[in-house]
Amino acid sequence: MSAPVTYKKIGVLTSGGDAPGMNCALRAVTRAALMKGVKVVGVLEGYKGLLEGNFLDFTERSVSNIIEEGGTILFSNRCEEFKTEEGMRKAVENCRKNGIDGIIAIGGDGTFRGATDLCARGIPTIGIPGTIDNDITSTEYTIGFDTALNTVIALIDRLRDTCQSHARCNVVEIMGRGSGYLALESGIATGASAVLITEIGYDEEEIFEKVRRVKSTGKRQFIVVIAESVPKRLGQPDFSERFSERFEKNTGVSTRFVRPAHVLRGGSPSLRDRLIATEMGCKAVDLLFNGVSNSVVNVIDDAVGFMDIGFALRTDNMFKGTLKEEDLEGYSEEQIRKMRAICTKRQNHIAYLYDIVSRVSN
Ligand code: ADP
Repeated sequence: MSAPVTYKKIGVLTSGGDAPGMNCALRAVTRAALMKGVKVVGVLEGYKGLLEGNFLDFTERSVSNIIEEGGTILFSNRCEEFKTEEGMRKAVENCRKNGIDGIIAIGGDGTFRGATDLCARGIPTIGIPGTIDNDITSTEYTIGFDTALNTVIALIDRLRDTCQSHARCNVVEIMGRGSGYLALESGIATGASAVLITEIGYDEEEIFEKVRRVKSTGKRQFIVVIAESVPKRLGQPDFSERFSERFEKNTGVSTRFVRPAHVLRGGSPSLRDRLIATEMGCKAVDLLFNGVSNSVVNVIDDAVGFMDIGFALRTDNMFKGTLKEEDLEGYSEEQIRKMRAICTKRQNHIAYLYDIVSRVSN
């Protein structure tokens, strides 16, 4: 068990792709930390702000009125320089110069890689998962996912109205980086006729055959959801457009293609995202002050907990098939078994959801 630690000043930052609810997490971190008597600074534009010493002194009022705001009031950035030894040195030097002795970083797996690098150089860090993609294997939930899902639902419900009027199909390509979660849950919630994700194989001819069959039973409107990882994995950026053409040709249903893209990243956070972001923000502060560092807040079986960043990143690589043999050096058999169990559970959950969408899509 770690021993409690006293901090003088901590920094909070948002980095990588923004997500609705990041502001809620930021607000919770700031207020929970100030209550512990520590000073808090907001770091502007993620790791870029650390390099440039771009800090704002935060009071409780600095995070007033942001609980319902989309985006992030601290702004975000993808900072390549931070990944270099020189960039990292500048960031640590700026922390020391400004008396910042701990960092809470809200973002995705790239952000966590940065956090663990800072930790290795003597700045204790805690990560909070914030991304609409729900693509971080070490946690069953990431801040922003629910809001993005609700945005997709609102969008596809409107498409469905007009598809029904005109006896049409809309093929919708949904963000999610390497993960099919957003596409899959969107597909279930909008009654899609088919969902294409990389985690589960699919057969185009089977999809077309089913559509021809249900069309003959009087169905007029069709929705197909494609995860953005499918075109990426195939190396065919226009895969979804071409799929729409094949769909029309093979089913005889007039078909249009839609790519909502970054629309999904905006908007006021949903109830679920506000709750979880607030809980995770408080948890991150508690962890730091209890002497935990180099860790990420996560959700497993609906409970908010935490995991070592190195362990989390390797589990993520294992699930995504990007793990190198040497990455597991230093991990015990028991730890590796745990990583495999997390990956298996995730894959089984995706297969379970896929089965559900398949059973009700006609
Ligand atoms: P996300 O956090 O959403 O996955 P990115 O992958 O763009 O988004 O990462 C956000 C930022 O984290 C990067 O711009 C960079 O500053 C930092 N970062 C990403 N990967 C690393 C790495 N391997 N080492 C150090 N910092 C990293």
